[in-house]
Amino acid sequence: MKIELAKSYGFCYGVKRAIDIAEKNPKSVTFGPLIHNKDEINRLANNHNVGLVESLDEALEHDTVIIRTHGITKDRLQRLKADGKKVINATCPYVTTPQQIVEKMSQEGYTIVIFGDEKHPEIQGVASYSVAAERTFTVLDESELSALPLGAKVALVAQTTRKPDAYQAIAAELVVRVQELRVFNTICNATFENQEATEELAKKSDIMIIIGGKNSSNT
Ligand code: SF4
Repeated sequence: MKIELAKSYGFCYGVKRAIDIAEKNPKSVTFGPLIHNKDEINRLANNHNVGLVESLDEALEHDTVIIRTHGITKDRLQRLKADGKKVINATCPYVTTPQQIVEKMSQEGYTIVIFGDEKHPEIQGVASYSVAAERTFTVLDESELSALPLGAKVALVAQTTRKPDAYQAIAAELVVRVQELRVFNTICNATFENQEATEELAKKSDIMIIIGGKNSSNT
């Protein structure tokens, strides 16, 4: 049997960076799983004494809190800082970018449309940076746009792990619905490269095995 590896796979830049930060901060806790990989979370706990808390109340019981790669909501981050915690931000810079865009564009009066899963922590974090919740919407499909009170000007961002062609379809639908559309390419390159490599390998393989966390959008 011939076994071939995809051209692009494995931990991305943001995950490697977060693991490095966690390893350098023993006796800390991460607020939510640092990454979506149980084995790695267990390794950090066993070898580096990095714990895991799931709620703000639990996080407030610890001195040093690491923010997960997917980020957390703005109000939670502010609460941790206001409480005097040592906050180590391991949010991937590619996740911080859409947070900043959403904050700025919402301040400038744009309706915010986010292409992503509203239940995903990354998107909950990104949406929380909007200064106007009433004109901030999260969609998974262009068919959802017709029901939204979009207004004249819209800013569009995507979850970092979304597929570019689906993002393009949403942008194409929006551009004919509003007077002004600002589209920000917030899809992560690492994701894009993995998707391309997967597609390429799928075309020439009988069976593909993808090893990854079931709750990971990258998987
Ligand atoms: S945004 Fe990209 S680089 Fe950052 S953690 Fe997600 S997949 Fe990795």
